[in-house]
Amino acid sequence: MLTLKTPLKNISKILPKYHKILDKLELRTVEDLLSYFPFRYDDFSQTVKVSPEYINQTVTIEGVVTKTKSARIPRRKMTITEVTIEDDNKTPLKAIWFNQPFVLESLREGTFARLSGKMTLRGKTLQMTNPSWEKAARETTNTGCLVPIYSETSGITSKWIRWQLKPLLETARQMEDVLPYDLRQRLNLYDIYTALSQIHFPESREKLLRAQKRFAFQEMFLVQLRTLQIKTQWENNPASPIKFDEKLIQGFVKKLPFKLTDAQRKASFEILKDLENPLPMNRLLNGDVGSGKTVVAAIASLQTASAGFQTAIMAPTEVLARQHFESFCKIFENYNINIALLTNSYKLANNFEFRVSSFDSDSNFQNSNLKNDSKFKIPNSKLSRNALLDEIKSGNMQIIIGTHAIIQEDVQFKNLALIIIDEQHRFGVAQRAYLQQETMDVRDGQKKTIPHLLTMTATPIPRTLAIAMFGSLELSLLDEMPKNRKEIITKIIPATVRQEAYDFIRQEIKNGRQAFVILPLVEDSKVLTELKAATSEHRRLSEEIFPDLRLGLLHGKLKSKEKEAVMEDFKNKKSDVLVATSVVEVGIDIPNASVIIIEDADRFGLSQLHQFRGRVGRGEHQSYCFLFTNSDTEKALERLQAMEDTSDGFEISQKDLELRGPGQFFGLVQSGLPDIAMEHLSNIKLIKFARAEAQNILSSDPELANHPLLAQALQKFQEKIHLE
Ligand code: ADP
Ligand code: MG
Repeated sequence: MLTLKTPLKNISKILPKYHKILDKLELRTVEDLLSYFPFRYDDFSQTVKVSPEYINQTVTIEGVVTKTKSARIPRRKMTITEVTIEDDNKTPLKAIWFNQPFVLESLREGTFARLSGKMTLRGKTLQMTNPSWEKAARETTNTGCLVPIYSETSGITSKWIRWQLKPLLETARQMEDVLPYDLRQRLNLYDIYTALSQIHFPESREKLLRAQKRFAFQEMFLVQLRTLQIKTQWENNPASPIKFDEKLIQGFVKKLPFKLTDAQRKASFEILKDLENPLPMNRLLNGDVGSGKTVVAAIASLQTASAGFQTAIMAPTEVLARQHFESFCKIFENYNINIALLTNSYKLANNFEFRVSSFDSDSNFQNSNLKNDSKFKIPNSKLSRNALLDEIKSGNMQIIIGTHAIIQEDVQFKNLALIIIDEQHRFGVAQRAYLQQETMDVRDGQKKTIPHLLTMTATPIPRTLAIAMFGSLELSLLDEMPKNRKEIITKIIPATVRQEAYDFIRQEIKNGRQAFVILPLVEDSKVLTELKAATSEHRRLSEEIFPDLRLGLLHGKLKSKEKEAVMEDFKNKKSDVLVATSVVEVGIDIPNASVIIIEDADRFGLSQLHQFRGRVGRGEHQSYCFLFTNSDTEKALERLQAMEDTSDGFEISQKDLELRGPGQFFGLVQSGLPDIAMEHLSNIKLIKFARAEAQNILSSDPELANHPLLAQALQKFQEKIHLE
């Protein structure tokens, strides 16, 4: 009998040649395949007569095959297959397929067929190119309905998946529902069988929506359960109380080259107050690019160091870690604080970089150049890996800066009391929960306390959303920018005026400035296509547009050493234009860069665009952001218009939230749920419900002992997040 656990290999309809591909997709059992969700749907539900009134619309038609033809074009290694269909309107429609001669095996003359696709006019003939098709006598699976599209890997098509899934669907009845019955009743959610059926074979848009809503809810519900559980654990741990030394902090603030904004003051105060508690802080510093989070982090670290404890600061990449290191060295120029930079590069060399900004007089690392230099210079010392780890373990190093590896690897601390994390991506709640878990595993030398945790967002999160999602952590808002900022001039650039933008860049570079060009990540691209897209655009720009300029190229395939070298070159003005793919963190500070071009800007979310834009305008120069687009749809342009209209990050992220919903906003794709389902998280209400229901269950059953299915699902969920 077919069960959920039946290996796909045992299903005779699935030919052996597919086994390997399925395995690669980690689809091994019937249940796996049922849980493989479409990532979008083609709407073929509109069935019409063949008629010119539907030109350029995606529709379904039904009729009899009156003529067939198949021709090979050896020169182009291609076959072209043509089928003419007539319905009772008596207008013929010609369907054309490339390289699918087998179509004719099913669609012979006289067959009743159903085709779905875009109707076009070629000369005087109505036509469909590569339409979906099936015999009209069959149930609508590939035509005539909402047709699910799965992410296709070579060798497996959506059509094949649909064909395999249909007979397996019944087994979904054996599935136990993770969502308790009374909860589903209360919230009017589909049971698991109905939801799965409608996800794979939607009968209507409404039913599909309802199914997606169920899964979106389920995901959020699990996330909330996990977060709340961790919160409880978190609060059961002691942390080292760090006394607020007002004089020290005031002295520090007074000597800063600028006046803190009120928001910075308030946030610093909130953090310092939290640190005084013997319970671990869990605070999110929510602020826009350039709102000055670094100095707030510095204040917290200063207080921690002065109280005799260590701080770990983690950046998403080595390049950013180094930048933080440099900022901190500069900020603490006149303080007796030892700062270490721990990057991964040490794996490559025996010697790895270690620098301190200032030295105890009895320290071995004295660097006499430091104080004499009128201009700040980073002292450069190197220690063997073990020697530096010893310095950290002994407590000689008070601030340790690096990537995530700091807490994941074998670094031992003497008394780590504060962890600060500068995010690259907006973490979803799940990742955040995982992070907290990790933090709880980091113990100081005496294994009694856990560190306080401060995370800093890369992009502002709308307050309403932050509260709904992260109700379990404290929020500090930096909603005010330092006064001295020049607004970045933002322009949407359609294809027709690109050249002017390029000319403008050349002018800026003549004036001594530099520019970024950001390329989008090609849709469902693997690293290889990213590489190809990046190199070819780099070549095009170097050869055709800026043959006279020096162009750097940064993409995800580069080793971190290579990335750093490219960045360094740009920073040192050895290149004029930096072409970078969007997967690469360009969060590095280049005050001399005054222009940023974002290619295919319509493909990005507003928050992301805003973040890119923040790469310029960091120096004293008037800066510009050009949003290149080939799209002329009103919706896309309206979205981009928001970028021209405002530079307020909170306003932009609010708009992004309204347009794309929290799922997109947090990029919860990691959860395995397709984007399309996440979109249906679009109302914060759903998150709130999930939270309330999670609270409800945990209040009577904190360990989920009476909800074994939920406990199991959470376990799986946890493992998935862990693997990210
Ligand atoms: P982000 O929040 O993006 O991390 P940073 O901390 O890097 O921002 O700050 C951006 C720039 O603004 C830095 O050069 C920093 O020295 C400067 N800055 C920070 N706070 C202020 C302030 N209150 N007034 C003026 N400049 C400031
Ligand atoms: Mg920053």
